[in-house]
Amino acid sequence: RDAAGEEAGYPRWVRINALHSSIEEQLVSTFSGYARAGRIGDVVSKPGRHLYIDPHVPNLVAVTPGIDMSKTDAYASGKIILQDKASCFPAYLLDPRSEDGDVVDACAAPGNKTTHLASILHQHSPEFASKPQTIFAFEKDTRRAQTLEKMVRIAGSKSMTRIGFGQDFLQVDPRDGKFKDVGALLLDPSCSGSGIIGRDSMPELHRKLSQVQDETEKLVRDDDGNETVIKTEKDLAARLEALSSFQLTLLLHAFQFPAAKKVTYSTCSVYSEENEAVVMAALQSDVARKRGWRILPRDRQVSGMKEWPVRGLAEACKGDATVADGCIRSQKDDGRGVMGFFVAGFTRDGAEDSGAT
Ligand code: SAM
Repeated sequence: RDAAGEEAGYPRWVRINALHSSIEEQLVSTFSGYARAGRIGDVVSKPGRHLYIDPHVPNLVAVTPGIDMSKTDAYASGKIILQDKASCFPAYLLDPRSEDGDVVDACAAPGNKTTHLASILHQHSPEFASKPQTIFAFEKDTRRAQTLEKMVRIAGSKSMTRIGFGQDFLQVDPRDGKFKDVGALLLDPSCSGSGIIGRDSMPELHRKLSQVQDETEKLVRDDDGNETVIKTEKDLAARLEALSSFQLTLLLHAFQFPAAKKVTYSTCSVYSEENEAVVMAALQSDVARKRGWRILPRDRQVSGMKEWPVRGLAEACKGDATVADGCIRSQKDDGRGVMGFFVAGFTRDGAEDSGAT
């Protein structure tokens, strides 16, 4: 199947932005002509327009594909956001509360997760009673930061978001007084993008490369749109190594924020090198040991994530069942209608903190 063919078999996921609307309002406006589907599969297989209310992520629906939702008033006014179900997992799993203080979105553009964080903060604390919370949204690429700014404005989260235009998260000093109240960080760094629907996964690339060896030249795009030429399996391994080392560096940087108690790490990669292996290396790092960072175990996760059945790969977690079960995966082509994705949460209670490096 080509990319367009593969996309056609998937529903269109729509997140309702609690800052501007509600599911109830959208059911009687944007989706008034839609029949309610009892199963996700019906959204793509039954004739006509169908809508399915997601049982895992709050404020999320799946609708029949092929209808250009970007032409709707609800989209133009930021009431709905077009975001794959799996891409909603990180902010939902982070579950920022008013007691968590300020929040960081380390790699923010185009802003799906920044605006999701804002929507969750608003729902947990609609009155902003005590102290208003800030989302620090960093984006290294200035052009992409402009897209982020636009999305944040349309979604109604501008007043609570401080955008770091062209700001490299690794250059941000965790001990800067501005960040003293940062209790939760969401990390969604650049990755191979191999979980994106319509893209070759790495195993598929491996197969193609081994079939035509030297003559094969494959242009791959990561999830930021950057292109790399892959000619051999060695190129592929080197690319994954570079990505995972960058991802681990970012995660360890996030671990250093003095008041941080919660971190999520996510990719839209299917490859364990970018996923469980990064989690395992982070847990074994000096900063994790010194500051008491642990995996957020499944039984402490928000209800929809606890119930989500697809978990981390045990063999990539070196047999640590708590870590594997704490990790959340999603797979393309398994009938659940989502992209390939990975997310893990980390937690600490602070008692262990003995001055991180
Ligand atoms: N979280 C975004 C969303 O849900 O809309 C998607 C983020 S995308 C996977 C990764 C982003 O991180 C890219 O826009 C990339 O330019 C940015 N990025 C990469 N390295 C960065 C760094 N060191 N500091 C800040 N942003 C970075």
